[in-house]
Amino acid sequence: MLYLNGRFCRAEDAMISALDRGCLFGDGVYEVIPVYSRNPFRLDEHLARLDASLAAISLPNPHTPLQWAELVREVIRLQAYDDQSVYLHVTRGNAGERDFPFPAGVAPTVLINPSPLVTPSPEAKAKGVRAISHADFRWLRCDIKSLNLLPTVLLREAAKQQGCAECLMFRDGMLSEGAASNVFVVKQGVIACPPKNHLILPGITYDLVIELARQHGVPMEVRPVTEAEVRNADELWMTSSTREVLAIVELDGQAVGDGCVGPMARQLDQYYQDFKRTVMRA
Ligand code: PLP
Repeated sequence: MLYLNGRFCRAEDAMISALDRGCLFGDGVYEVIPVYSRNPFRLDEHLARLDASLAAISLPNPHTPLQWAELVREVIRLQAYDDQSVYLHVTRGNAGERDFPFPAGVAPTVLINPSPLVTPSPEAKAKGVRAISHADFRWLRCDIKSLNLLPTVLLREAAKQQGCAECLMFRDGMLSEGAASNVFVVKQGVIACPPKNHLILPGITYDLVIELARQHGVPMEVRPVTEAEVRNADELWMTSSTREVLAIVELDGQAVGDGCVGPMARQLDQYYQDFKRTVMRA
């Protein structure tokens, strides 16, 4: 069961017009919220980022945080499985014609679609994963979680073709992020990651990992990171709501550090898992 424009229905009965602006232009934004044992994780933070994405594209938020939370909880309740990945999607709706400027008086399309949550396998956690890199050829508003995901589609397909789990992106010699993750480097016991700006998505997991590192007194620098630092790092890892903290042990065929999951990646993942358990128990 999913939610579409005011009603709960089966996926096969959920219909969106072919003229929806999400379909024609990618004129919309989205969120992905991990759900553990039917508890949405960092729900307020995801709803705040959704609100920021909507504001950035001048699309009025159709719901208050309380209304969103109720809809999300109802969708979660309707599923047969406990651990979910809940996809939220809001577009500028169906204007009935293909014209670029905003249409007047058109209701947004609101979709909440859950699926079973897939997190990294125990093997991927233990051994880490491989990644490729590519020039960051996306636009200059990567802080908006926009439906325009063609770069991500192309880069993740390229990674997959090479047996890799992610594609790291560089712009003008600087690290931006992964195709669908934020990226952290470690050198001599100090963690570093790029600051939040228009070049990266402000990751919910990124924020939490920085907070956890600081809480536990782990040296943590939020500052621009060069491509050379990435290529010479002792450790690299990516963060996202579904990948959590996942070590990258090979980049473009070269081992990262000694080619194994490093102690800092293990430590931060442990802090993350402990935090998750504590919150989920509360
Ligand atoms: N950066 C990009 C481009 C992403 O698409 C994602 C998640 O999909 C992230 C970073 C990680 O964000 P979060 O931790 O909120 O899942």
